[in-house]
Amino acid sequence: MMQGVHHVHRLLHADPPGASGGAAMAPAEARGVESPEKDPDLCGPGGTVYETDPRALAGSQAHPLVAGTKVHLVTFGCQMNKYDSEMVAGLLGEKGAGFVAQEDDAELLIFNTCSVRGHAEDRVYGRLSYLKHRKRHNPGFMIAVMGCMAQKEGEQIAKRFPYVDLIVGTRQLHEFPKLLERVREGARTPLLAIDETPTVEFGETVARREHRHAAFLTVTRGCNKRCTYCVVPYTRGPEVSRAIPDVVAEARRLADDGVIEIMLLGQTIDTYGHDLGREHANLPRLLAELHQIEGLRRIRFITSHPEECQEDLWRAMHDLGDKVMPFIHMPAQSGSDRMLRRMARGYTRALPGSRGDGAEALSGGRDRERLDRGLLRRD
Ligand code: SF4
Repeated sequence: MMQGVHHVHRLLHADPPGASGGAAMAPAEARGVESPEKDPDLCGPGGTVYETDPRALAGSQAHPLVAGTKVHLVTFGCQMNKYDSEMVAGLLGEKGAGFVAQEDDAELLIFNTCSVRGHAEDRVYGRLSYLKHRKRHNPGFMIAVMGCMAQKEGEQIAKRFPYVDLIVGTRQLHEFPKLLERVREGARTPLLAIDETPTVEFGETVARREHRHAAFLTVTRGCNKRCTYCVVPYTRGPEVSRAIPDVVAEARRLADDGVIEIMLLGQTIDTYGHDLGREHANLPRLLAELHQIEGLRRIRFITSHPEECQEDLWRAMHDLGDKVMPFIHMPAQSGSDRMLRRMARGYTRALPGSRGDGAEALSGGRDRERLDRGLLRRD
C-alpha cells in the first residue's frame, strides 16, 4: 500500500480518529426544485445538478456531520453511473445534505467517473489539477472521486492528487455518507474505499432524480462477458442480479414518489437472474411483476446483447401489452464478422432477433404495428 493513502477497510477497524475535521456547516439554501444542468464537455449523458429537496432537510435521518453540507455532484459516463449518482445523492439527502447548482458554491464536490473513454478520464484529471489551488486556500472544501476511475485508478489518484479527501470505488457507494462522516471526523486523507468484495446495495433509499417522473433502476451490476475493448468487467466485477422482491420494492417506492416511468439497467440485461437461478428470476418474470405496480405507466430496459436476447423476452413484451415499451436497445457493435471476432462479442453479423425468431414472434397479428413502429434499435 502506498504511503499517505488510507484504505477504509483498515480504517474501519482502527481506533477512532482524534481531531475533528470540521463542525457541521450551516444549512444550505433549499431550492426545492430538481433541475438538470448539462456540461457539454462531459462524456456521455453529461453532468447533473441535484438541487435540495426541503423534505430531505426535515428528514429524521439527518446526521450532524453531513447535514447542511453543500454538495455538487458531476456525473461522467453511462446511465449506470447516473443511477449511482442519483442513489448517492439520495443517501446524502437523507442525511440532510443540500445540493448547489454552482460548483463554486460547493463544500463537497463529487466526481462520479467513467473509465470507458480516455477523454472522460482526462477531463477528471484536469478538473482535479485545477482544484489544487482552491483546496490550498480553503482546506474545509472537500473533494470526492467515486465510480469506475476510483475503482481502477484509486491509488494513482490518491498519489497524484493527495488533496482529494475521499475515493470510493463502484462497490462501496452505499457507504458514501459513512465515509464522508469519517472524513469530517478527521480521518487521514485521501480515504480510499475500493474493496473488491461487497456488491453495492442502496437499501431503501429513494433516488434523488434528474427527472421527477422518470427513474433509472439498476437490476444487475457487472458483466460476465469479456469484450476486448471494454473495462466494465474489471471496474464493476462479475454480474450480480438483484432479487425480484428488491427490485419490485424499489420500483414501488419510486412509484409512490411520483415516478411513472422506469428504465431498468443492466450491462447485458437479458441475462438478469442467471446467478439467482433463471427458473426463479429472469427478465420476463421481472417485467411481469413490475407490470402490476399501480402508478407505473412505462417500463423500459437497457441494454440487450445480441447473443442473449431470447424469444421468451419478446414473448413477454408481446403478452404484457403497452406498459412495457416496445423498444429494445441492442448494440450490434459491428457488421463485420472479422471485427466481431476481434471484439470477442460471441456472435456473427447474422444477429438473432433482427430477422429471426424474436421478430417473427411479434410480426404476426396485433403486434405487427408495434414492430413497424421500430421495436429494435441497434448501434
Ligand atoms: S457485454 Fe457490454 S459491458 Fe460486458 S464486456 Fe461487453 S461491452 Fe462491456
